[in-house]
Amino acid sequence: MSSQERVIRAARQRRQQTLFRRPVVKRYKLMIPGPVDVPDEVLEMMATPCMPHYGKDWLQIYDETVDYLKRVFRTKNDLFIIPGPGSATLEAAVSSLLVEGEKALVLVNGFFGQRLDVIARACGIQTRLVEVPWGEPILPEQVQQALDADPEIKAVVIVHHETSTGVLSPLEEIVKVTHARGLPVVVDAISTIGGIPLPVDEWEIECCITVANKCLETPPGLGMVSVSGRAWQIIASKADKRCGWYLNLNVWRSYAREWDWHPYPATVPTNIIVALHKSLEQLLEEGLEARYARYVAASQMVRAGLREMGFEFLVPDAYSCPLVTVFKGKPDLPADELAQFLREEHGILVAGGIGPLQGKIVRVGHMGKAASESYSQAFLAAVREFVKRKSAQR
Ligand SMILES: *Cc1c(COP(=O)(O)O)cnc(C)c1O
Repeated sequence: MSSQERVIRAARQRRQQTLFRRPVVKRYKLMIPGPVDVPDEVLEMMATPCMPHYGKDWLQIYDETVDYLKRVFRTKNDLFIIPGPGSATLEAAVSSLLVEGEKALVLVNGFFGQRLDVIARACGIQTRLVEVPWGEPILPEQVQQALDADPEIKAVVIVHHETSTGVLSPLEEIVKVTHARGLPVVVDAISTIGGIPLPVDEWEIECCITVANKCLETPPGLGMVSVSGRAWQIIASKADKRCGWYLNLNVWRSYAREWDWHPYPATVPTNIIVALHKSLEQLLEEGLEARYARYVAASQMVRAGLREMGFEFLVPDAYSCPLVTVFKGKPDLPADELAQFLREEHGILVAGGIGPLQGKIVRVGHMGKAASESYSQAFLAAVREFVKRKSAQR
């Protein structure tokens, strides 16, 4: 037997002995605020054959996907799909619009606002913050005051829906206040695009960012950013001051213009994009308004049930986002114990609080398959059982 044959035979024996086991992927109902349970038809597209990320066949799928995304963003701006987590695309937008030494106003009312501040500072950008307690929205007056107080600010960076608390800030008004000062905005709309109205062109948003794995109901791995004409003027004027390559929007634009057979700087994960294509097709067939309404209906059903059981919500209705319901635990119904019960006894995953809200709240997502009566009812029935069990223990 040759040495190659020996190696191959040993490998076959190892496989037979299942020395390496398949990873155990448990089936839960995902009611966390992302990633979400995606439609079966979307998941199936992940198992289609690998294909080259260039050439005519591929570009037809790719170009259609970008076109669908523009419809969901309600924009005619340039739009890029940047493989990676949402944070990569956020970094690309922030560090392309602003360069080292410049100053940004970052609006912070939770974990993801803090993350934007960290990203900006890691890129050498100075930050000034409007910071409010977690669970509260950022108000336009606060932004106006901060801009008045510091004429060196070059852009405003904001989270639309702060997913760590369920707060929706009044984005349209904040954008108006920012534009009145002649400044651009970068919007982290990672947990809103495709789930609630956000007309990018109507509100003239310079850079708007989202990901595949929240309201776009696709497995994780892709970020997207729309870039307006005005944003390009600013970005291009600083091209020679910007270092870095992969997360540099100038680089993405030059490939989109010059490499028509391969309009991006590196290999893209074709399977995830094929899945996204399917998911966007379903979204556009259903219609944006109908999709938004379905998310609202799911959140209303869950909120009515929780209210009936006497739970309190973290966020007043006026600022709460219909994509995630955030409610408080009670001394006799601890939030983390409830989350554990839902997971272990009902196979339902919800999220707890982070930072100052750790152990105090439960966050329930209504995106993906969770935006259905069956998930919502299963969740409420399980919570009722928990309440009953705990009161029997007293
Ligand atoms: C999920 C989320 C992110 C983080 O996205 P990653 O893909 O983990 O980088 C950022 N901002 C908001 C508002 C989010 O909901």
